[in-house]
Amino acid sequence: MTRPTVAKVDLDAFAHNYFLARRLHGGQALAVVKANAYGHGAVRCAQHLAGRADGFAVAFLKEAQTLRQAGIDDPILILEGCFDAEELECACELGLWTVVHQESQLVDLEQAAKASERQPINAWLKVNSGMARAGFNPDQVKDAYRRLRACSIAGDIVLMTHFACADEPEKEMTALQIAAFDAAVEGIPGDQSLCNSAGVLSWPNARRDWARPGILLYGAEPLPDKRHGLKPVMTLTGRVFAERTISAGESLGYGATFMAERETRVGLVAIGYADGYPRTAPTGTPVAVDGKVSRIIGRVSMDMLTVDLTNLAGVGVGSQVELWGNQIDVNEVAACAGTISYELLCNVKRVPILYGATALEHFPSYDIDSTESKVSIER
Ligand SMILES: *Cc1c(COP(=O)(O)O)cnc(C)c1O
Repeated sequence: MTRPTVAKVDLDAFAHNYFLARRLHGGQALAVVKANAYGHGAVRCAQHLAGRADGFAVAFLKEAQTLRQAGIDDPILILEGCFDAEELECACELGLWTVVHQESQLVDLEQAAKASERQPINAWLKVNSGMARAGFNPDQVKDAYRRLRACSIAGDIVLMTHFACADEPEKEMTALQIAAFDAAVEGIPGDQSLCNSAGVLSWPNARRDWARPGILLYGAEPLPDKRHGLKPVMTLTGRVFAERTISAGESLGYGATFMAERETRVGLVAIGYADGYPRTAPTGTPVAVDGKVSRIIGRVSMDMLTVDLTNLAGVGVGSQVELWGNQIDVNEVAACAGTISYELLCNVKRVPILYGATALEHFPSYDIDSTESKVSIER
């Protein structure tokens, strides 16, 4: 018997979300597939959009190399840029695009330009418009642009910035950042890129030539109150593999934190924090048992967790438990666990990923007795 725990990834939903974002934003869009596509499998996700997306973005060189090795020859932008001259050389060879956000990266490009046989590389010049994490300050931008433009190996230059609070529309910060960016790049020619997911969804005047959507591709709304027709991509499920009834006054699990107030039917589910389900998810965090909404009770363990089956008719050993996906919004679980959907999705591990297409009915039903791990099917 194989452990009945799996993350189903709906690649058509992923593509749907990408095209929805591009349509909303206008212009072109790089699908952000860093961190193994936020836990969804970067190679499979990129392969599904290869030749149809305008390009991809990853955090660092190694992630881009993985995609190139898998045969992805679309544009790929390295969001952290190259860490040193050696990485830059490699990026040039692989035909990658790189962010330039600090002096040392400019110097590496200037040095590389002297070695004339290098292929040109498209460079995204990053402006610090207020986030103060990476990027040239507004007063340095014109000079950085002039030096970059003078590098023989710099191809197209795109002007970019990144928002600190795009998912909090009530804050003034994003409007200030847009104004700071526009002032800093005034008179500099070239394409511009400002928007992450929340920017695409809620800041129309930040929509420029290129979008960089990440989390929205995976169907998780970065803005809790808005609904844009995104489709959830990952459905994380386990099954009830044991059940028991505890009496009023009995406690359950580590720390004995849950105390039954009445007779309680407890289902034991084969997933835990070693699989990436957050240990901080408290009693009351929603789950769906055979399609019926219930809750976690007691502490999440390393390899298993416990759910409340009381008053759920017809469920028991063998019932499927959705931790998040089509029925349970990953944002809701994240809120219960005191974090954000990004962290939950990126953390999924040890769980086989099953790739499939839009209607979840099209996934083969997961058979507790016969499923191989690492199943991979596609219509
Ligand atoms: C990760 C990242 C994105 C994508 O952000 P989301 O909030 O997931 O859309 C866009 N731009 C940069 C620079 C990033 O690092």
